[in-house]
Amino acid sequence: MLRYVAPSLLVLIAACASGPEPVPAEEIAGVTDDGVVFRFASPELAATVLTAEDEYTAVLQPREIAIKALDASVTDWGGLAEKYEADLRAWTEADKEALRASIAAVLPKVNEIDQWLPDEILLTYNGIGVEGGLPHTRGNLITFGAGTDLEDGEGLRALFLHELHHVMSRANWDRRDDYFALLSFEPCAFDEPAGLEVLRLTNPDAPLYEHYMPVPVEGADGVIPYLFTSRAYDGTGTLGDYFGFGLLPVSADGGACIAEASDPSGLLQPGQSPEFLAKLGGNTGYIIHPEETLADNFVHWGLDRQGLPTPELPERVGAFWTEAK
Ligand SMILES: [Zn+2]
Repeated sequence: MLRYVAPSLLVLIAACASGPEPVPAEEIAGVTDDGVVFRFASPELAATVLTAEDEYTAVLQPREIAIKALDASVTDWGGLAEKYEADLRAWTEADKEALRASIAAVLPKVNEIDQWLPDEILLTYNGIGVEGGLPHTRGNLITFGAGTDLEDGEGLRALFLHELHHVMSRANWDRRDDYFALLSFEPCAFDEPAGLEVLRLTNPDAPLYEHYMPVPVEGADGVIPYLFTSRAYDGTGTLGDYFGFGLLPVSADGGACIAEASDPSGLLQPGQSPEFLAKLGGNTGYIIHPEETLADNFVHWGLDRQGLPTPELPERVGAFWTEAK
């Protein structure tokens, strides 16, 4: 990240032909005070990140790939990557204006945490052929979904901060144990039962299950919030229509989490564990993964929201990222 650089060194960098190309002004969506650049990516540039293999693509299952591809005949990553590449859109001037305004509005808060961000964050816009049109992130890229209302305001500012949180969290994955502890999650090596694995629905913003929450559960030590596909792709609906969710009871054994259910019928509904809901603080209904619950609390911090059930949680989330590196 660019902090203080001696002027003579800047001349040297500018003269170096092999250095990175400067970002054209029309592609800049915002710049933090530490020099982190938010960049409107062309579909081609965005595709280099979205079609790359990473920790997300490594765990994708054939059944969810067909659902994400909206095509029962596509069951491997190569086929899905082609669909993704075909459904990225170029930015319009009106879109860019709206996002620039929303980023400018939250920039004072982003400046407080930009030490943890990658030097460049790409922005793109996907149709329903990419993750059902849902906004999400991969690597250093934020993609706004087909259903996103690209008008400056509370909604777009919140969405930007939520997705930015995922990019930041991913870039600092070595902090996850301490971070998820803010919600009382503890690390464990999760041995995913085969009967669940084939049904899994992988969230690109939180593709890994590495933590459980200790709560009183009959015959187990705690739970892992778990996302699965509710049915195989049947030619109807989009990704959002296939969401299944429940709490997987697990026993903790010497650092490992042993599943106490082998298929979705053994999962609990969130309401069956009031302790689970209480420890999450009640500031958001987005409870499918600690990463998502923390992202929404980061938004509360970024927008200075008041009147929350657990106001100290956004404060702790903010403090976690504003502390010195
Ligand atoms: Zn999210």
